[in-house]
Amino acid sequence: MGVKIATQYSGQCVECETKYARGMMVYYDKDHTNSKGNAIVCTDYACFSEQGGKIDDKSSSARTTIEDLEFNLPDVSTNNNVIYATLLVKQCLVTAHVITKQIYPKLDPLSNTFGQIRNAFKTDLVNIINATRICDNKTK
Ligand SMILES: [Zn+2]
Repeated sequence: MGVKIATQYSGQCVECETKYARGMMVYYDKDHTNSKGNAIVCTDYACFSEQGGKIDDKSSSARTTIEDLEFNLPDVSTNNNVIYATLLVKQCLVTAHVITKQIYPKLDPLSNTFGQIRNAFKTDLVNIINATRICDNKTK
């Protein structure tokens, strides 16, 4: 059963040739295949559906529309502490991605399960960095 997810890769629908960038919401179904024998991926539900893609209507991710995900970024400047924290989070995310791929080599990186496991590892890494800093501070 497919899902509507934020894709982690840029690509192009093999049927309608619509391009999508990393982070865009796409319909994704790895249980059914397109004419090239790959998982069906398209930003357009009609095209996805015509290729045989199926979405679980009961799943909350399928009900989320692109309109629901529209948001406004607060207009604030970012200081060096936040920039440094962001860099650490990115490093933890990359490391967590690599760890997840090593431990679950057959798990599809586009799947929700992969994303959840990766996020758990990322949180662990951030927490360990945090805990280590607390220890460092106490010994000083
Ligand atoms: Zn398409």
